[in-house]
Amino acid sequence: MIVRRRWTAAATTVILFSAVLSHPASGAAAPADPAAPIALSATETAVVRVQLRDQAQLDRLVATGADLANRPRARDGRIVADLVLSGTQLDELTAQGATAVQIVQRAGDGNRHYADSVRAAQARTAAGLRAPAGGQRSTAAATAVDTLQVQQAYWWTTTGQTFLQAQVATTATDDPDVEITVSWRTADGATGSFPLYRFEDSGEYQYHYALPQPVPSRPVQLSATSSLGGVSRAVTPTLWPNASPPPLPAGYQKDFIDAYLTPVDIQARIKRLARQYRDLVDVIDLPNKTQGYRRNAVGYLGDPAVAALVVESVRFGDQNMNGVQVRTVDPGRANRPLTVGYRDRVLTVSLATDTAGKTVSTTDEVAAAINARQPDRFRAIVEDGSAGLPMPVAGPTRLDDGLQGTEVPARPWTVQALRLGVHRDGSRVGVLAYSQEHAREWATPLVTLEFAERMLANARTDPATRELLEQVDIFVIPTVNPDGANYSFNDFNFQRKNLVNHCTGAARDPKNRTSWGVDINRNYTVGSYFDGYVGASANCLSGNYAGTAELSEAESGNVIALAQDHPNIKFAMNVHSYGGYFMWPPGAYRADGRVTLPRPSIDESTLFLNSARRIVGAIAQERGTVTWPSQTGPVADVLYSAAGNSADQLYYELGIFAWDFEVGNDRWNPATNQWEGVGFQPPFDEAHGESQEYAGGLVEMVRVARDYAAAESAG
Ligand SMILES: [Zn+2]
Repeated sequence: MIVRRRWTAAATTVILFSAVLSHPASGAAAPADPAAPIALSATETAVVRVQLRDQAQLDRLVATGADLANRPRARDGRIVADLVLSGTQLDELTAQGATAVQIVQRAGDGNRHYADSVRAAQARTAAGLRAPAGGQRSTAAATAVDTLQVQQAYWWTTTGQTFLQAQVATTATDDPDVEITVSWRTADGATGSFPLYRFEDSGEYQYHYALPQPVPSRPVQLSATSSLGGVSRAVTPTLWPNASPPPLPAGYQKDFIDAYLTPVDIQARIKRLARQYRDLVDVIDLPNKTQGYRRNAVGYLGDPAVAALVVESVRFGDQNMNGVQVRTVDPGRANRPLTVGYRDRVLTVSLATDTAGKTVSTTDEVAAAINARQPDRFRAIVEDGSAGLPMPVAGPTRLDDGLQGTEVPARPWTVQALRLGVHRDGSRVGVLAYSQEHAREWATPLVTLEFAERMLANARTDPATRELLEQVDIFVIPTVNPDGANYSFNDFNFQRKNLVNHCTGAARDPKNRTSWGVDINRNYTVGSYFDGYVGASANCLSGNYAGTAELSEAESGNVIALAQDHPNIKFAMNVHSYGGYFMWPPGAYRADGRVTLPRPSIDESTLFLNSARRIVGAIAQERGTVTWPSQTGPVADVLYSAAGNSADQLYYELGIFAWDFEVGNDRWNPATNQWEGVGFQPPFDEAHGESQEYAGGLVEMVRVARDYAAAESAG
């Protein structure tokens, strides 16, 4: 029996809550120039917005560990997803009926945007309306066979354009062909309509919805009709988020970010802040050192296209193993055994010979001999497709870790947190902001560092900020995953995971080098893959690989250790990119029946939502960016199920109100009438804008914490 949990909540205060559980949807038109096909070269990797053929195609992608950059959305009745893809993968999808609609980010873009941002920073130092689709549907059918309920109708204005977003449920939940059209009227009498699209999640009907639609001015009435004759009650759309932070006082200091920051830059920034604001800052070295920017030295012995082994060093390349050579030789005599020797940094395998003097060792025999006789130095793996083949005379091959970064120290990394406040003794309510669990999300440490420096700099000049630092104890981890971030900056832009390679066997083939690592935000203990929840993988090559066990990774352990060591922490924000979301628990569900982790109580849900409105309002203060109501709500409802994410552990295990940002909201393009994705590493101007607006959101979270603590002590 499927429990339609969502619909049971349609009463009293929960209406407001359920009103924001909706989804991103569609409405956007086809690409601006359909004549120009979107293509990648076979080996190029990019983030591509792709319209998929059907749900089955999406399911196959998810099942095979596709790297989804964003939540799939419905658009004109089809599913649109942002995927990290190679040209070959895009061609395969296209051949299967998918259509690319936007290149969100090419691989090289990130490095260009990084270089541009650094150059610009150095230079400074030195010196319409969518046509109603289908119009008003006829409601002439004699008898309506469904009933419609408007669950959400919100409007807002940003940079001169007013938007309307609606979510409507039909009682004909099992009929996939029901079409719903929303009609609206503005205060000055303009009217229009747009279609909604059916949204299912994990096989269950949720509701119909659409992306925010441009309207000419404030809408005062909205109603919906269905193709089955159902008609909703007319409602008055509500202003979203309808909350504003206090205005910035004169002389308020901000804009401390003038370029993208690598982990090395972040380390320097932390040091500088600690020196400059000695009375307000502690630097906390988190307990688990990471692996560091390091890899095993590896090479192919033989030709991978014919017959080869993968040989790698057991130690990391920087531990004197880069440059070590490996070879197989013909002993040149009959009846010789297979031998393995290592001297002068050369591993030599002498192949066995038969009575005629011909070499007879197989790939498997050579790999086994290396593993048996040099287990402390080398690992050998038979290349896929080479099993049982004669091992050729090959090499010498130089092993190398393949890492390109030259300015990154190759040693375990100490992840650091900043602690800000006048009273850093646990006597004040604590707030934790942490970013870059995912390496490629370059804008996220800019958000947390801008936030930290705003609090510190203004504490000296703005009494209101000073008062916040009197009342609140703030913890900031700018980069949770520095090793992955170093790899993202130096080797592979789209690296999401950490740098620890848990793969065994053929998966260790260096052709998989950009797919190794653990997804830190799937490695926590609550609602995890290991507990049977959806949205993480046991495949070490998957974009959301959960690791070998809960908290198997140093990085996730650090976040939890900080929270456990400071039980005054009551609020937390996990900062990710991109897409423009504001979320809270539950963040995961089980596949069967879509049973989520327990819902927060009504009181807590109210606190989550009311705080969210305040924080969304504060984000909008900077440049008008409004996080859509459809993207504000529990993770499992508005984004996807993310088994073993950090916010769920903080909330369910440690009692912390734990939120997630996805910074980098889609931008409205009035020329094409489309929402466009910004990507992980946008041109620096966009990343800078994100840092400013979301830092404002974090400042509002500090106010929320202060107000919460005041109410607790008053109560
Ligand atoms: Zn992320």
